Formats: sequence, C-alpha cells, structure tokens
Amino acid sequence: MSRIILHVDMDSFYASIEKREDSQLEYQPVIVIQGPKEGRGVVAACSYEARKYGVRSGMPLKTAKKLCPEAVYKNTNHELYAEISIRIMNILRQYTDKFESVSIDEAYLDISSIVNDYKEAEKIAKNIKRVIKRKENLTSSIGIAPNKTIAKIASANLKPDGITIVTPDKTKIFLNPLSVKKLPGVGKKTAQELRKLGIKTIHDIVEKPKVTLVERFGKNGAWIWDIANGIDETPVEESEEIKSISKERTLEEDTNNWTIIHNMVEPIISEVHNRTEDENYIFRTIGITLTFEDFQKITRSKTLQKHTLSKQIIQENVIQMLKEFEQKPRKIRRLGIRISNLKPKDEAEHSLDKYI
Ligand SMILES: [Mg+2]
Repeated sequence: MSRIILHVDMDSFYASIEKREDSQLEYQPVIVIQGPKEGRGVVAACSYEARKYGVRSGMPLKTAKKLCPEAVYKNTNHELYAEISIRIMNILRQYTDKFESVSIDEAYLDISSIVNDYKEAEKIAKNIKRVIKRKENLTSSIGIAPNKTIAKIASANLKPDGITIVTPDKTKIFLNPLSVKKLPGVGKKTAQELRKLGIKTIHDIVEKPKVTLVERFGKNGAWIWDIANGIDETPVEESEEIKSISKERTLEEDTNNWTIIHNMVEPIISEVHNRTEDENYIFRTIGITLTFEDFQKITRSKTLQKHTLSKQIIQENVIQMLKEFEQKPRKIRRLGIRISNLKPKDEAEHSLDKYI
C-alpha cells in the first residue's frame, strides 16, 4: 500500500531563532556565522531577507559581507538551537511512532497508519505548523508525499511557511521539470557528470535506461535513477542508538538443560526492563536472540498492539518465543533479550481527532 510521509523542515532555523530572541531584528537581514566573525567565518544560516541579496549557507563570510554589508551578523549559539530542537522534535514525535529526526531542524513522519488520505495528512501538517508556531514562535515548511525523497524535495518547494503536497499520481509532474541538483545525493560534481550525459532535469534521467546511470555511477547511479522515477522504499525510522535496549548473556557452559536457561531469563529481563524504565521509554516490540553451540544465531520478535512498560508482558512473550526451541537437542551458548519500537513514556497519549 502507498505510504504518506511528511518531511518537516524548519525555515532558516538558526537565523529565525536569532530573530525571535531579539525583536529588533524583525524584517532585517540576519546572517549567522560559524567561526570567527571577522576573517575566515562561514555562513551557517541566513534569514530570507539576506537570501534576497544572494547570501547562502556555506558561503564564506567575506562574500556575504560584500553581498549584504548591512546585515546583522551573529555567532552561532548551538546550545540554544539544540534546546529548541529537542522541544520541536518532542512535539513532532507525538503525532506518530514512525518518526525520524534527520538533523537539528528536520524530521520525517510516516503517518500512513493514522490518516486515510492526503486531505487528512494536510490537516495534520497544518496542525504541526500551528503548534510549532504557537509554542516556539518559529515557522516550518512541510512536504507530503508517498516517500521520503519526494517529501524532502517537496518541503523545500514553498519556503518559508509552506505546505507542498505531492500525491502518488502527481509525482512525475512534480519531479520531472526539476533540476537534477534537487535530488538528495546529487552534488555539484555528480551534476556536472550528468550534464556530460546530456542530463539536466529529472525528466532527462527518466528518459535514460537505468543501466546507463549504473554504468557511469555504480550503486549511486541506481539510487539516482530510482529516486528520479519516484521510487524510494526507505523506511522512516529512529536512529539506531535509541531504537532498542538489549542485553545478552553467555551461559556458563553450552547447555540444552532448559531449567538452567530459564533461570537466566529473569535477570536479563530485569536488566533490560530497568534500563527501559530509567531511560523513560515504553516499548512495543520484544525480541530474543539465541546463539547455539555452533555459533548459529536465531532471532524472534513479537510486536504488541500498544506500547507498554510491563515487565510481565516481556516475561510472557519471551517464554512463549523460547518454547519453539525447548524440544530440540541443540545446545544453547548465549541468550539475548531486546526491547525495541521505543517511545518516550511521558508523551501524552493522543487520539487522531485532536489533530484533524
Ligand atoms: Mg531547515
């Protein structure tokens, strides 16, 4: 089934924060500098007023000063930006379990299972923008599309403060006229190489057989051809470090004595459960990993209907999953238990009608 994915991107995040912190900066071009304010600094962000003068992020400070000498120049204040980012990500997380923050000011939300169509998705996007504006006094732009790549390109389409919807039947119309440079992963160098093949727009890629790009760019060429054709199956998922909590233990000796194995289950569960509790998460998926005497590994997992913090539910499911292996003579070397599909515990439970 086709997915519905949101890409939320804050508008000139650093510069907008500086403006918000100092009301005198309203309507003024603001340029945030990474590095020394004089000399070799680089533009980290610039307000939309500054962009009108041709200033762009990544540009040397010297160039920016030539283009827009009257701008207000600020040094980056990463601590403040990070603090605000955490609050914004926590707002976004409340809309769906399938959430992925990709940078300090960008995130993907897969809302396929909570909306029926793009109309409802648009209502959620409007709600997100409104809540961020009200709570943080910052604007954002959102792209809504059937995959991450198109959603990302779409969010940049109507900046600042825009919503761009690309329904599955409109992906070709939306993508085809765009420059290849709009494709994530196509930098200046790749764009130059593509030009040598006579390719300037996404439509030019679509016209070529996939093999032409693969021959020229290898794996990256296959990726470029796929996304130009609107194909991107990459899931929306939280980065690895907070995706799961797990613990593995090796038995004192390899055994198929299940009394011994069962005795080891309880302390591992306690450890995993304590950590989940300490880190303030609730979970939805429980998994086991068994390593046999020949080092072969087998994993099993079970995803629940709802998130929970119940230790008893871990126990019941682990015991259930282990049953499959109990009658077999193979000796077990190592046992692991893993809790995943985590989300922060104190997030308010939400119902859809709150948002649409
Ligand atoms: Mg941004």
